[in-house]
Amino acid sequence: NFAERSEEQVSGAKVIAQALKTQDVEYIFGIVGIPVTEIAIAAQQLGIKYIGMRNEQAACYAASAIGYLTSRPGVCLVVSGPGLIHALGGMANANMNCWPLLVIGGSSERNQETMGAFQEFPQVEACRLYTKFSARPSSIEAIPFVIEKAVRSSIYGRPGACYVDIPADFVNLQVNVNSIKYMERCMSPPISMAETSAVCTAASVIRNAKQPLLIIGKGAAYAHAEESIKKLVEQYKLPFLPTPMGKGVVPDNHPYCVGAARSRALQFADVIVLFGDRLNWILHFGLPPRYQPDVKFIQVDICAEELGNNVKPTVTLLGNIHAVTKQLLEELDKTPWQYPPESKWWKTLREKMKSNEAASKELASKKSLPMNYYTVFYHIQEQLPRDCFVVSEGANTMDIGRTVLQNYLPRHRLDAGTFGTMGVGLGFAIAAAVVAKDRSPGQWIICVEGDSAFGFSGMEVETICRYNLPIILLVVNNNGIYQGFDTDTWKEMLKFQDATAVVPPMCLLPNSHYEQVMTAFGGKGYFVQTPEELQKSLRQSLADTTKPSLINVMIEPQATRKAQDFHWLTRSNM
Ligand code: ADP
Ligand code: MG
Repeated sequence: NFAERSEEQVSGAKVIAQALKTQDVEYIFGIVGIPVTEIAIAAQQLGIKYIGMRNEQAACYAASAIGYLTSRPGVCLVVSGPGLIHALGGMANANMNCWPLLVIGGSSERNQETMGAFQEFPQVEACRLYTKFSARPSSIEAIPFVIEKAVRSSIYGRPGACYVDIPADFVNLQVNVNSIKYMERCMSPPISMAETSAVCTAASVIRNAKQPLLIIGKGAAYAHAEESIKKLVEQYKLPFLPTPMGKGVVPDNHPYCVGAARSRALQFADVIVLFGDRLNWILHFGLPPRYQPDVKFIQVDICAEELGNNVKPTVTLLGNIHAVTKQLLEELDKTPWQYPPESKWWKTLREKMKSNEAASKELASKKSLPMNYYTVFYHIQEQLPRDCFVVSEGANTMDIGRTVLQNYLPRHRLDAGTFGTMGVGLGFAIAAAVVAKDRSPGQWIICVEGDSAFGFSGMEVETICRYNLPIILLVVNNNGIYQGFDTDTWKEMLKFQDATAVVPPMCLLPNSHYEQVMTAFGGKGYFVQTPEELQKSLRQSLADTTKPSLINVMIEPQATRKAQDFHWLTRSNM
């Protein structure tokens, strides 16, 4: 019996797949090729879902979104050299967003190292800059150990990207089954709580605030802190502002959401509680003139190194956001208190919200053609299912879209994020669709893309059609990056000269029929130029659950945002 057992062999590919399965990896996105094909096949045989993509970059974006949506890392599987290099964009983006991700890259054979092997590249070294952990197992026996460590590193502390390198010769190498020991599934991160004294101080600073503001970031979304934060907002009647991906932790249509008065709220708040958001460019570094010079920040974050960046906080609450918010609730509950709903602060915020909303409504009601951004987004919002995922990228498309398109559920918005990455949309939409299909069937993924943003990974439409994913792509098409030209101007421009000499760098081909990318693969495509056509095509897309759609929405090529109070707000992404 012992002799029989000891002869049973297993391949490196199968060991990798089993190690991933043991760590509860549910999804792998990638592109197969030498030397990783066998890994994908072995994983699928163990019941891990494999989604084949068309470019490693999009695959990596997709895998990173899995981490954000499920709290366990998705895997991106890539081939050596160029394949891995294409994935670096996704790793950087995940790491910047503080999202868990595990990239597994094939690499050249160990016995050909430094010889100029096929696709040889210093991969472990290259990934170090983009990850929390980057390593190559020294033997097949070490694979389960390294994979457990990578998965754990990706979700413990501040979440981020990890890389595991698999030399080509490992994949088909056979080892004795009994020599492999699989590590136990790594547990979810331990919950850390803030110091009691800091919680007391924070509660008293909040109670004494004249113009308080809670800012809800994507860290709060990731921490599943929706229940405690909503309670804090409602119990004490505090105004809150979501960051782009913090939208939906408390619904956007909540009466205490001051999103429509964002600049005003930031500028005049005297106490700001940060729930999982960094004082980076998205929050204007926490500095004047966007904030009061003496504003008191209370910073809640799981990452100690983050505390005090750019501004010295009045109170730091180091810990898990959900746990810390519950601590705060408990402390505030000790003395009956509530922020007065009739305060001047609320009045100021409400007035500003009203006037901002009226200004965008006016733009939205414009009947002129081609349509402007506001008209397009108001019509989309009208039909947006409450439980849908909104994926969005582009310059104006994302910025204006964010102010009009509402999120009602946490972790249901995915966009260019901390790194301002263009090209994430289709990968994110695919990941959200795959998760939705498994966990909340019936939910739509509405992916609102600028025409330029769509171009970065347009061929992923084939992936969407291959797996028949519940995605509606809306390409908001202004014929360019930021702005473009109409067909007549274009023709005029090209009359006497070569396009490369005269076409402004931001221009894309006018009147491109992006919807045909979708019809090419069997999905439904619509080319729309009027509000009526937009309404109708969106209604039809939502009614047909058997096919993905792409609606190509032509807008005024020179359309812009509404006038802003601050000149620096006219810059893209601000
Ligand atoms: P936003 O873009 O919404 O402003 P950021 O990505 O800048 O958000 O900030 C998210 C912050 O949330 C990061 O500093 C990260 O360390 C923190 N974070 C992530 N997960 C948790 C958690 N479970 N508990 C507390 N903080 C967290
Ligand atoms: Mg554009």
